[in-house]
Amino acid sequence: MKNIYSNIFSFNKKTLGKSIANLKKGNVIGLPTETVYGLGGNAYSKMAVQKIYNLKKRPKNNPLIVHYLNYKDADKDVIFNRDFYKLYKKFCPGPITFVLKKKDKSKIQSSVTAKLNTVAIRFPSHRTTRSVLKKLNFPLAMPSANLSSGISPVNALDVSDEFKKKIKIIINSGNSKIGIESTVVSLVGKPKILRPGIIAAKTIKKFLKITIIKKSSKISSPGMLKKHYSPGIPVLLNQKKADKNCALITFGKKYKNKTNCFNLSKKSDLKEAASNLYKTFRKIKKQGFKKIYVVKIPHSGAGIAINDRLKRAAN
Ligand code: AMP
Ligand code: MG
Repeated sequence: MKNIYSNIFSFNKKTLGKSIANLKKGNVIGLPTETVYGLGGNAYSKMAVQKIYNLKKRPKNNPLIVHYLNYKDADKDVIFNRDFYKLYKKFCPGPITFVLKKKDKSKIQSSVTAKLNTVAIRFPSHRTTRSVLKKLNFPLAMPSANLSSGISPVNALDVSDEFKKKIKIIINSGNSKIGIESTVVSLVGKPKILRPGIIAAKTIKKFLKITIIKKSSKISSPGMLKKHYSPGIPVLLNQKKADKNCALITFGKKYKNKTNCFNLSKKSDLKEAASNLYKTFRKIKKQGFKKIYVVKIPHSGAGIAINDRLKRAAN
């Protein structure tokens, strides 16, 4: 079936060719990853990076994550250390981002890092994006493919909702499995978690002594902006019920299946809940609800990442 969205393409050889050609020209495209969909462009091209900031209306002091196929490709741009190798071996490719010192001779645009001397790098595991990275001789600067401060897209239609026809290619590979953004870990100085994600602090602590950062004066991580991940309507946390004109996001099986109830995981699986969070926000908004109430979500494992996003959504 051909879809009506002329810029959404299934992934095949032809789409791969077109995507590569566009990226080489300095254009940006929508790409699937295992966390959320990204807006990718050549991290070495000033024009491509500028397009990313402009399309997203992203503040220039909010740096971008640079995506590579593997650590060998990243070696020319960043300085690795022992902590990095430990976590790389355990979790990569996958939903974890590392902040490391940038090499002086790196070709990464200074706008990518918001002029910091550090750079955030990630090695996505999604097959589609890996196929694209394999064909490029530059890394991809790739924030989530949504307007700044909004919620991340988890499929090609979400990306299309955000940018309409302003981007020429959105590669469609179905829903992102994880559904929330990567765990961001700073490995400059003492290891710190800057943004919680599906790889929880508890899991990382098995391999590395690491602390969780709560507040930061400077933007060391864009995910740390207070208002972020906002669905564009008020969000109220730790609620028990909602009146019928408002949506109620629930978790677990004790809530009744009313028309205004949206269950993140009936079987109380926090990973499943994370993967449904943004999808649910978008669904609620499309159905015209004016407010979102959310029940208390357990604060453990993936629940820590969910509560981080909810707190900012409610800000
Ligand atoms: P997103 O908007 O989802 O692409 O998230 C971007 C993430 O990039 C943020 O949460 C930051 O943690 C991270 N980031 C990018 N560059 C840096 C940097 N130089 N230092 C710290 N964090 C960074
Ligand atoms: Mg984002």
